[in-house]
Amino acid sequence: MLPKYKRILLKLSGEALMGESKNGFDPFNPQIIEQYANDIKRVTDLGVQVALVIGGGNIYRGMNEHDSGIERAHGDYMGMLATMINAMAMQAMLEKIGVFTRLQSAIKMEQIAEPYVRRRAMRHLEKGRVVIFGAGTGNPYFTTDTAGSLRAIEIQADVILKGTRVDGIYTADPEKDPTATRYDEISYQECISKNLKVMDMTAFTLCMENKLPIIVFDMNKPGSLLKVVEGSGIGTLVK
Ligand code: UDP
Repeated sequence: MLPKYKRILLKLSGEALMGESKNGFDPFNPQIIEQYANDIKRVTDLGVQVALVIGGGNIYRGMNEHDSGIERAHGDYMGMLATMINAMAMQAMLEKIGVFTRLQSAIKMEQIAEPYVRRRAMRHLEKGRVVIFGAGTGNPYFTTDTAGSLRAIEIQADVILKGTRVDGIYTADPEKDPTATRYDEISYQECISKNLKVMDMTAFTLCMENKLPIIVFDMNKPGSLLKVVEGSGIGTLVK
């Protein structure tokens, strides 16, 4: 089957990497990283160009100034470093299974990552390498969802895929409301008017203004990523 999308940006949350583990000293579950890597390989094998943004919420989030006593901006930089740890874990696993990768960081870390250079990233993608964008946008007060939207637009990705633990966007929180139903497709405007939380507002607005479609899908189900890329209609498409 011919893939529907040629170039994708996959956004994975940091928390998803933890699996069931709730222990801060054990931030990722190797089985989950392995499953993600295998799923990514299946789409790169089809010739799809894959860029990746990973969150850091399993290790550190900067927003809790009041609880931590750490100033917001300082904590946000800590959060950006957390995304680099996840990015390196993902990179190691991808390389282990034979996927070529490049890690680009929005904060200079010469020994471990290339600096973010848009045109270079695009060149890597053309050569079939998975490009992992680490350290978010490089700026405090942003999220990795915003980094994902921004990079997706910059590299002219066809779509941003938000891999989560739920299989799409629902009329209400399916964990709280058993009558909630899933949207197959929904417009940006409808998400806003119904106050559906797809991404934070900054990230969402970037997608909307630049007409970048978003697909929310369950990344923890092996094989889902491939189905999404083939255009088989799983998850929720926002456009
Ligand atoms: N962060 C930031 N700027 C960015 C991206 C991330 O300051 O451009 C910080 C912020 O503190 C955030 C943390 O990094 O809480 C981890 O990222 P995020 O919460 O987006 O991760 P996820 O929820 O996807 O695991």
